[in-house]
Amino acid sequence: MICNDKDILHVMIEEARTYTQGGEVAKYIPALAEADPSVLSLAIYDGGGPCAAVGNTDETFTLQSISKVLSLALALMDRGEDEVFSRVGMEPTGDPFNSIIKLETNRPNKPLNPMINAGALAVTSMISGSSTEEKLGRLLTFIHELTGNPEIRYDEHVAKSELRTADLNRSLAYFMRQHNVFEDEVEDLLDLYTKQCAIEVSCEDLAKIGYVIANEGKHVQSKRQIIPLHIARILKTFMVTCGMYNASGEFAIRVGIPAKSGVSGGIMASIPHGIGIGIYGPALDDKGNSVAGMKLLEALSHRYDLS
Ligand code: GLN
Repeated sequence: MICNDKDILHVMIEEARTYTQGGEVAKYIPALAEADPSVLSLAIYDGGGPCAAVGNTDETFTLQSISKVLSLALALMDRGEDEVFSRVGMEPTGDPFNSIIKLETNRPNKPLNPMINAGALAVTSMISGSSTEEKLGRLLTFIHELTGNPEIRYDEHVAKSELRTADLNRSLAYFMRQHNVFEDEVEDLLDLYTKQCAIEVSCEDLAKIGYVIANEGKHVQSKRQIIPLHIARILKTFMVTCGMYNASGEFAIRVGIPAKSGVSGGIMASIPHGIGIGIYGPALDDKGNSVAGMKLLEALSHRYDLS
């Protein structure tokens, strides 16, 4: 079992760490530029014992785009597929995650999919609740349930740093509001979205969320259905087709594991009916994916035949 192979995992993470030199931390959100690019950590959860964790396991980081999977789960549970997919599409894109171009050229003017920023903003607008606090509270409660960790909060420093500099996301939101994708006030939506992206987790937390999604949405211990089966399947499918931004096609060929990355350097992966994986490595490639994290997942996929 992969979780018992701690010695091998130690070797694999140190091999992958050499690739951190080929990447750079995200700078467009100033608080993310404070990360140490040489950090790399991995946690694997198989539902049996505790997580197998190696590398810089004490590091915590913000979810960033990984949160898009969780807001989508909640919006689908709140509103149902018909409403969600009337406002956001299902198609992958070769454009960067923050691109605006398809919002104008796509007809109707709805975002292509929930894993790019425009789509994620539209999805966040569909989380039920009467205030930002209530909506964020519901998302956090959901994450507490998924991880079994009630301590998870959002990082105010990162949220404020993003809110101050989020003019591109602001423009996406204004464009969509004009085209009736949602009716929320743009600043309220941006406030919620940046807090959602700033939810702070460890690799272990990510591995546990990845495990629940991998195993059809069932809670690890109680076996209660936290995410309905059909929604867990939708999440995995989006992770395959759109999870690694515009590198998703190559990643599917080389690695073949449903995964979602964020510009903090986190990656959450779900092996269907199998393990959950959490990775943190803030040195990113030019598409915004953890450069060493991708190499590590590729090596794990080959060694353990996970594709
Ligand atoms: N909060 C980030 C943004 O909206 C998330 C993007 C990402 O992780 N790719 O730009």
